Amino acid sequence: MHLLISSLVAISLILLILSVKPAVIICQKDNSLGWKVLLGLIAAFILGYSLFFIHRLTHSVHHPIENILAIILVAGSIFVVMIINLSLTSILKTQDIAAKERYNAGHDSLTGLANRQLFLQTLDITLAAKQPFSVFILDINGFKQINDMLGHYFADQLLIKVATTIRQQLNQKCFLSRIGGDQFTIISCAVSETQINQLMTKIHTSLKNPFNINNYNINVQIGCGGTLFPTNSEDATSLLKQADLALRSAKQKQVAYVIYGTELANHAKARLEILSRLHEAIAENEFEVHYQPIIKRNADSICHIEALIRWPSRGGPFIPPDKFIPIAEESHLIGKVTVQVLDTICEHLRLLKQSNIQACIHVNLSTCDLQNEQISIYLAELIAQQRILPCELVLEVTETAIMQDITITKSILQKLSEQGFLISLDDFGTGYSSLSMLLKLPIDQIKIDRSFVNLMKQGETSHAIVKSIISLAHNLNCTVVAEGVETKESTELLNQLKCDYLQGYFFSKALPINELINTHKR
Ligand code: C2E
Ligand code: CA
Ligand code: CA
Repeated sequence: MHLLISSLVAISLILLILSVKPAVIICQKDNSLGWKVLLGLIAAFILGYSLFFIHRLTHSVHHPIENILAIILVAGSIFVVMIINLSLTSILKTQDIAAKERYNAGHDSLTGLANRQLFLQTLDITLAAKQPFSVFILDINGFKQINDMLGHYFADQLLIKVATTIRQQLNQKCFLSRIGGDQFTIISCAVSETQINQLMTKIHTSLKNPFNINNYNINVQIGCGGTLFPTNSEDATSLLKQADLALRSAKQKQVAYVIYGTELANHAKARLEILSRLHEAIAENEFEVHYQPIIKRNADSICHIEALIRWPSRGGPFIPPDKFIPIAEESHLIGKVTVQVLDTICEHLRLLKQSNIQACIHVNLSTCDLQNEQISIYLAELIAQQRILPCELVLEVTETAIMQDITITKSILQKLSEQGFLISLDDFGTGYSSLSMLLKLPIDQIKIDRSFVNLMKQGETSHAIVKSIISLAHNLNCTVVAEGVETKESTELLNQLKCDYLQGYFFSKALPINELINTHKR
């Protein structure tokens, strides 16, 4: 009995000593006074237990109450060990959850890359270090179309593969993040032209092979814009704006990457000037509409004309639509411009009728016009006010505009077609989509882009492309317009190919309404 009790006290002492380590860990993790007091108490217990143990060993006669005391001490030590270990486990679990939450707050759950928040924090830290660095924004060309084609699940798989591939090309010093959708950013110490070129070449080369997603081979091309600290700016917001501008420029020029520099800065300034004047021009209705005849094969009178907007600059030539239409689109002003063009067209239709000229007017709709029902509603009002008949307008839309969001554009085009307007597919051949896919839409006419028409005389290939577009379109009950016809030879070739309509400088430039009327009055 004596030996048993002494052994129990020895075990309790060992248990107490074993609880010191977890108690110390707890005190290190949670600096509160309570845990320190508990650690002190454990130390005091160890001392007390040791004295009691020595007493048991050195005295042969024991009072029965000591046996009861020994059992209480054993229970007490088991209690302390359990409390300390359970507390440590739950503190570690809580810390683990907190660490995971911190990680999640800074990382993108799809790709595992840093997210926008962590990117911005890292950019601030990198700026504070005051060492030269570069920052890039990358995005996948035509990702919206890929998303529409593959669906969200498989498009996400593609994003994961692209993120992994890019990550594999970067060294430890580069910081890659996904800041949203298909947009990635890189903070890199590459600052010289050679270093940047090497980095960009590496990334673009790594994405050359198609990715196999759901049995589709998807070719991914990325656009990339970058800027340099401290050369171009010393604050985060401007650096990001510059990288974004450079990205847009890379996309427009269809080049692998663009680095922000003086040329782009001047371009941005000019763009800003146009934007500020555009508001004024809309308020003052400064725009004019000119008309370019579209000639029917083997017919002598005009029956179709294309309305082309003209913006007279103060004391100078017209500001070309290619310069201001994209800015009007980006700044959501294009809807107002289209409405003003339609209003002018209504007025000009009246003048044409007065001069006995029966013409059907082609109007250019922009990408944004196909993203909501505003234009369809406005056209319905014009019909209700008897200012136009649907057969008097052909609505020209580009492939790129349609492909922005095929689900929305399809329903808008369907509505416009049901309203009785003919739909003409402008600049055909410059986009990425297939003719068969586009012809699932209510399209009545195809306008072959002038780049093909111009090249036609130069070689067999372009000639064959034009020929096959014409025959395919005819098989699908669409008429064909060849744009940019500049020579007699092209005219003859297109006539031989049975192209329905021809348009270009060979016949006429776009003319102001009065000139058009004077030239074509019967
Ligand atoms: P687009 O719709 O493809 O219009 C044809 C453009 O080619 C016009 O340029 C026209 O002047 C030009 N062109 C016509 N024949 C020839 C030719 O034989 N050779 C060459 N080299 N060019 C020729 P413009 O008027 O500068 O318009 C450029 C673009 O601006 C248009 O391309 C169209 O996308 C856009 N645009 C013009 N007016 C409007 C408008 O009212 N609304 C919208 N949203 N866009 C418009
Ligand atoms: Ca057009
Ligand atoms: Ca065109």
